Amino acid sequence: MLVERTHTCGEPRISHIGQEVVVQGWAAAVRDRGGVVFIVLRDRFGTVQVTVDERCPDVVRETSHRVHLEYVVQVKGQVVARAPNAVNRDMDTGEIEVIPMALEVLSGTRPLPFALDDRGEAHEDTRLRYRYLDLRRPFLQDKLVKRHQAAQAARRSLDAQDFVEIETPCLTRATPEGARDYLVPSRVHPGHFYALPQSPQIFKQILMVAGMDRYFQICRCFRDEDLRADRQPEFTQIDLEVSFATRELVMRITEGVVGAMWKEVLGYDIGEVPVLSYHEALRRFGLDAPDLRFGMELVELAEMLGETEFVPIRRALDSGGIVKGFTVKGGAGDTSRKVLDQYTGFVRTYGLGGLLWGKVQLDGTLTGPMGKAVGGAPQAVLEALDAGPGDLVLVAAGEAAHVNPGLGRLRVEVAGQRGLIEPGTFEFCWVVDFPLFEKDDEGGWTPMHHPFTNLYPEHLDLLGTERVGEVLSLAYDIVCNGTEIGGGSIRIHREDVQQKVFTALGIGPEEQQEKFGFLLEALAHGAPPHGGLAIGFDRCVMLLTGADSLRDVIAFPKTTSGQDLMSGAPGEVTAAELADLHIASTL
Ligand code: ASP
Repeated sequence: MLVERTHTCGEPRISHIGQEVVVQGWAAAVRDRGGVVFIVLRDRFGTVQVTVDERCPDVVRETSHRVHLEYVVQVKGQVVARAPNAVNRDMDTGEIEVIPMALEVLSGTRPLPFALDDRGEAHEDTRLRYRYLDLRRPFLQDKLVKRHQAAQAARRSLDAQDFVEIETPCLTRATPEGARDYLVPSRVHPGHFYALPQSPQIFKQILMVAGMDRYFQICRCFRDEDLRADRQPEFTQIDLEVSFATRELVMRITEGVVGAMWKEVLGYDIGEVPVLSYHEALRRFGLDAPDLRFGMELVELAEMLGETEFVPIRRALDSGGIVKGFTVKGGAGDTSRKVLDQYTGFVRTYGLGGLLWGKVQLDGTLTGPMGKAVGGAPQAVLEALDAGPGDLVLVAAGEAAHVNPGLGRLRVEVAGQRGLIEPGTFEFCWVVDFPLFEKDDEGGWTPMHHPFTNLYPEHLDLLGTERVGEVLSLAYDIVCNGTEIGGGSIRIHREDVQQKVFTALGIGPEEQQEKFGFLLEALAHGAPPHGGLAIGFDRCVMLLTGADSLRDVIAFPKTTSGQDLMSGAPGEVTAAELADLHIASTL
């Protein structure tokens, strides 16, 4: 019969010796030695050894032979000290064991599809299909518990700063965050669809117009994108919006939230968060989410190489391209041809024709392709790169759009391979002053963030001119260890400015009304200046728990093809259900 537990499995210690306890949990290990049966019981809080021997009643000894791995067991017994040679220092409860006076199997299990104690080396599809077994493993439970702690810390921080937690709808209209929408057909309005929110962006702005002053929500967002390893079709944001906000105010509030999460989960003080402009980030690191945990900054070399006749560089410079490089200290000796070829292959995936490497010899000369590029006078280049004898320089020439990401990512790759990143460290930074627009694949302009992002007021006049690409936004991203963990902006709060931006994006008056009429109308009814940001909560939890995959920090994640292997979603529906929705399949 089920009784209430007196202790969790992780709880009993020496101080409990002599006490009668009731513990319940799963049999994480069973060793049946004939005369003695050892059962390690596990629950979310830890494990405890239950030892069934001649001290136990016969019925308990009989039952103990029927306990198998992952059976659910209730034990009523006495906490005793283990014999000195049986103490297990790897177990928190390793100095004691429980001698059962009563033992009950509460539940059995079908044969297990994989062993729970190997750290999930079973195929991931199998683990996701039986997610409840997968999640039973302490390694994953720990991540969900830390996720909870981080969420609570964020909530407390925001609550203390006068934020109000407000839910916004999931069945809504499209929000333009740059991805495809998930659509939900309306049964009542034939041919009409709800969209699942890509973010609560418009609603949170409208809450500011509604005078709520400070809003937050730990909310789900849905984006129908081709999934990569680090994406999920639904993900969680800590979404916030602030009235009468300056950029600095939102940044300070965000640092409070992020700092609270890092403090709560890791006891880590995030310290001061440096601010870089987008252009500076690209210049020094090649990426708009720079990893500041190590050096090897990129250096522009066009000036020193302006005269070179070396074809790859000459060609790049003559067609308006750039030349940049970085130095791998001590890399000349231990970077083999094979590794250099691998680096070259790596940058090619970013559209570069190749990688120009050079090894600085003891006499200060440079070998490799860069040796050819600099001819007999490597001095200026080596000085710019801060390279000396024994160092390796890695240089790329071409369009900025290829050189920056190619070298930027190579910098991170090389740092990882050479162990230059100290484990357990976090380096945060803000990136600000993004361009408002970027070119899309068809050559038109598209918002770099979303179309509600405000711009530097002095750039307003550039909208609609040839110089629209120079307009800077009031957007900001927060980055940790080279991963963007949050982003937001000061918003446009004037109807006329919003219309101007829509127009610059090629959204005509009719489409503006059709898609965003309700926002424009709200802005025309006394909108306070406001701004906000969304923190990518799943990514933060990944960083906080050292997980390698987003799937490890989400209770019920989807595969890279968007499937939930446990529930079988997405599933088929009947013709009758489709008919109800006024939908016909073309399959
Ligand atoms: N809505 C934006 C996003 O989801 C964040 C923001 O601008 O607050 O990325």
